[in-house]
Amino acid sequence: MPAERKELKTENLVIVGSGPAGYTAAIYAARANLQPLLITGFEQGGIPGGQLMTTTFVENFPGFPNGVQGPELMDLIKAQAVRWGTKLIEEDAISIDLSKRPFTIVTTTQKIKSNSLIISTGASANRLGLKNETSFWSKGISACAICDGATPQFRNEELAVVGGGDSACEEAEYLTKYGSHVHLLVRSKKLRASAAMADRVEANSNITIHWETELLDVLGNEWLEKLKVKRTNTNQEDEISAKGLFYAIGHTPNTSLLTNQLNTDSKGYLLTKPGRPETSLEGVYAAGDVADSEWRQGVTAAGSGCKAALAAERWLTKNNLATLIKRDELEPSKAETTKPLELSNEENFNPDKTWQKGSYALRKLYHESKKPLFVIYTSSSCGPCHILKPQLHRVLKESNGKAIGVEIDIELDQDIAKQAEVSGTPTVHLFKNKELKKLWKGVKARSEYKTALDLLFE
Ligand code: NDP
Repeated sequence: MPAERKELKTENLVIVGSGPAGYTAAIYAARANLQPLLITGFEQGGIPGGQLMTTTFVENFPGFPNGVQGPELMDLIKAQAVRWGTKLIEEDAISIDLSKRPFTIVTTTQKIKSNSLIISTGASANRLGLKNETSFWSKGISACAICDGATPQFRNEELAVVGGGDSACEEAEYLTKYGSHVHLLVRSKKLRASAAMADRVEANSNITIHWETELLDVLGNEWLEKLKVKRTNTNQEDEISAKGLFYAIGHTPNTSLLTNQLNTDSKGYLLTKPGRPETSLEGVYAAGDVADSEWRQGVTAAGSGCKAALAAERWLTKNNLATLIKRDELEPSKAETTKPLELSNEENFNPDKTWQKGSYALRKLYHESKKPLFVIYTSSSCGPCHILKPQLHRVLKESNGKAIGVEIDIELDQDIAKQAEVSGTPTVHLFKNKELKKLWKGVKARSEYKTALDLLFE
């Protein structure tokens, strides 16, 4: 363990995982004055915020009659948890020791003791493990159509999705906005997706469903070009042209931190008492997809998070372990929510503003500014971009105006994204004096951006 890892006082309740289950548990525990500590996760087990961060419209979460974007919904639930006093640690939990009380949770920089624990670590997207999968990962293959579908390489090209559930159908539909045609590869004779979703896909003339089709491998040169498939009803091998391939083949529960510590089913899902959140160990509760191989909905996850928090509160109280905080204000101040950034133009452009948006600002700053320049390529539905933007904002704020940033929406500024060879969002470029100093794909730890920037000042 690194020497600098801090050990803090024993917490009432630690929640591991930041999807709807974790944040709902946090809302309930915070309102019970338990001041829960929530470890959001960072790279392990998918992105913070969980699977809704990589979804477009959620049309079945109560309270949103016209639907809501998944990342927006998660931003709102998070803001609600924080408003009531949830403490966040935006790091991965790297070990959990349940062998003695209080329990110990180690994160990248901290060692935390807690009297009770809610596990809401969700489930991670599966991969196929094809022979050439790693060669074409991010060069045609992606696990998130919603994040990467809008990238220039996929425009007006044939694309493919593998899977037959709601995710596969949603992604196939979504990709028809960008590709010339979408192939949906289904290994069986039927879709597992909900009837409404399946009907939409089957009625869409821009989608071809390839029934009983198994993906054998991916082929191409620099970029993905073809899929090698087997028609399992005839055993015939075949090729399908595709410049993009999107995986939507289900998930595996994130329980590796708990191996041999809690009872699980044969697939690794945490076992709880029927209809209840208690795991096999007193004081440890499970919520959301990590303990639910069947329902796996945002709303069921949120409901189970509520149950887990109420059960934890009762158990802490019964065992005299709860240290309740006293609020100075009965009503906390309103939740902070982010406003969309306005596009820069001739009138509102300001060379000293830390963060601006659009091609006008990029051209001006790239050619005229002497300051290091972060360019983040985003798309409107990109959940990981929601995670990354506040991190970059913080790096820029901490630079005290010595560095600046520009956001480019790849749908609004397609030419720039093409010129910059952006193959997915988020992508970050760091420039100094028109020279590309560093390039990142996906979300990295804030320290990586900060270190790269600090090196430019040496
Ligand atoms: P699912 O587990 O529901 O579906 C996985 C799909 O992938 C199945 O069709 C499965 O085939 C197929 N599959 C699995 N392994 C392979 C493989 N090796 N090769 C080819 N195909 C494979 O996962 P989803 O992510 O689609 O959905 C998870 C949960 O989230 C569900 O409860 C779903 O309802 C929900 N969801 C809801 C949405 C919404 O309401 N907007 C959107 C997305 C998801 P087979 O059927 O043969 O097993």
